[in-house]
Amino acid sequence: MTSTREDDKKTIPDVIVDKTRNCSYQRLRFFGKGGFAKCYEIQHTATKEVFAGKIVPKSMMTKASHREKMAQEISIHRSLCHKHVVGFHSFFEDSANIYIVLELCKRRSLMELHKRRNAITEPETRYFMHQILEGVQYLHSRRIIHRDLKLGNLFLDDELHVKIGDFGLASRIEYEGERKQTVCGTPNYIAPEILTRKGHSLEVDIWSLGCIMYTLLVGTPPFETSSLKDTYKRIKECEYRIPSTLRKPAMEMIVMQLQEEPANRPSVTKLLQHQFFTSGIMPAALPPSCLTTAPRTD
Ligand code: ADP
Repeated sequence: MTSTREDDKKTIPDVIVDKTRNCSYQRLRFFGKGGFAKCYEIQHTATKEVFAGKIVPKSMMTKASHREKMAQEISIHRSLCHKHVVGFHSFFEDSANIYIVLELCKRRSLMELHKRRNAITEPETRYFMHQILEGVQYLHSRRIIHRDLKLGNLFLDDELHVKIGDFGLASRIEYEGERKQTVCGTPNYIAPEILTRKGHSLEVDIWSLGCIMYTLLVGTPPFETSSLKDTYKRIKECEYRIPSTLRKPAMEMIVMQLQEEPANRPSVTKLLQHQFFTSGIMPAALPPSCLTTAPRTD
């Protein structure tokens, strides 16, 4: 049964109290809903600073695996600090919920932008991809695999800066050469080696980045079919087509990322040096109008 806003009033207080820090937050507008979490804009009562409050009811954390996932998400996210990663401010709990206080990303995510615009222009893609790659470069330098890079987890702040968020499926590489065997969840742009359970590592994020770049430029995901089974088959066979309308550097960069063999995919650092970033316009900033309308090209 899905809960309604009325139910929230009973379980999520209007004033959220962080007893450990002796402060409180005013719950403001509803922002969105994830698997377990509801997200609200919240305002620190004393400083008036606004944040995103990710609120997870404890009643949903019945399984040990759910609690472990939540603990892993918090443990990883709180250790991160980068301009292209959603800032982690604090977390606390009361008898009913767990609260995660995050940097507020008012312009939602690339998912909403994509839904409104479909394919976006090459300079816009260059602008977003460069920031996404800088964020992932930071994660990989700290041996963190995000494992669910997708448009809906690439948040946007007021200036349309990309902020990577949702570390619910992320994992830390504990030792050199470690290969992860399982993911507890279903990544959206899932890499073939996860599907075939061959063991996986940082390269799964490069695969997802290829899918993201393709989707931004083409307007549809590379392996989309009407059934998940067929999509997984195509992923395993690396069967996708790039429209000939794409320019060569963009095409080449996508091909490099969407390689079946993980070892053949370039590192983020290599990708940042790709000709795609040096062979065309790189906007210093994008106007908010690009969330809904394509920029003029004349
Ligand atoms: P889950 O881990 O349960 O999937 P998400 O992290 O995806 O939860 O968050 C659920 C929704 O909350 C998102 O789809 C988005 O609408 C909103 N949201 C999450 N984090 C932020 C943020 N930092 N700023 C603004 N909105 C956010």
